[in-house]
This record gives sequence, structure tokens and C-alpha cells, in this order.
Amino acid sequence: MQRKLRVGWFSFTCCEDSTMIWVEMMNDNLFKWKKLLDIRHARVLKKNNRLYGIDVAFVEGAITNESDAKKLRSIRKHSKRLVAIGSCAVTGMPAAQRNVFDDATKKEIEFLLKKFNQADSVRMVKDIVPVDELVVGCPMAEDAFLRVLDKYLKEFGVSGA
Ligand code: SF4
Repeated sequence: MQRKLRVGWFSFTCCEDSTMIWVEMMNDNLFKWKKLLDIRHARVLKKNNRLYGIDVAFVEGAITNESDAKKLRSIRKHSKRLVAIGSCAVTGMPAAQRNVFDDATKKEIEFLLKKFNQADSVRMVKDIVPVDELVVGCPMAEDAFLRVLDKYLKEFGVSGA
């Protein structure tokens, strides 16, 4: 049986537009990807998700509290490669704008941070775990995503790439 690339798609604090782009890309790629990818974890697609034995984890969003940082460390532990997807994951922005608010504005949003259990500052994915590849864009650039996917299909010896 042909080896498939075992992938996971994960979202943290963000608007999930790169997730929407990825799902929209299935209009053109679904039948090809069905042969090449074993999608082990993608809450946008299914309920039965498994976080182990992942070849490549795609991670979207900024990290805004310790509980998400812990989840991200667990994703890293169970994935051979990790790709930061989109500006929020790659640079923390736009979510990280609050990191540079002036004191008065920080005071204004203090109750929201407490209410939603948010950390004092927003972190990007590479602040928490090692990142192997970046797909930039807000939302992600489709051609950049396809280049990275193609690279890992080849690296993991998945034929058809
Ligand atoms: S990078 Fe842009 S499109 Fe993607 S989640 Fe962040 S704000 Fe949304």
C-alpha cells in the first residue's frame, strides 16, 4: 500500500482564514490529496482526530495563553516537522498588536484578558517550539503552501509528488 504523508492541521488564536483557504483548495486538490495525505488531525474536517505519529503539522494562529502553549508543545512532540501557517503564526501579527499598546490602552483591555484567561503578551509559534518552515501571508499564500507541501511529500518519499 502506498505510503501517505501523515498531516495535522491546527488552529490557535486567529480568524482561521488560512484554514478556509486550505479547505477551498480542496475544490481543486481533493482527489489528488486523498491519495497522498493521511489527514490525522483537522477539526475543521472531522471529529475523530488523532495526535500521534504526524509527519507534518501545519499550525495557524498566535499563542495567547499558557494552555495553548502547552497544546503546541504536545503537537511538536508528536510531529516530525512543524510548519507555521500565516502571519499570526509566523509573526504574531495582527493579534500581537496588543503587545505594543500604550499603558492606558493596556489598562482598558485588562478585564478582557482576565475574562478570557489571556497572557499578558501574544507570542508567535517559534517563541514556543522549533519551526521547520514558514508559509507567509494573511491569509497564507496558496503557492507557498503548495511548495512546502511538495517539499515534504518528496522528503517523506510519498510518490505522486
Ligand atoms: S494570518 Fe491573517 S488571515 Fe491568517 S489567521 Fe491571522 S489574521 Fe487571519
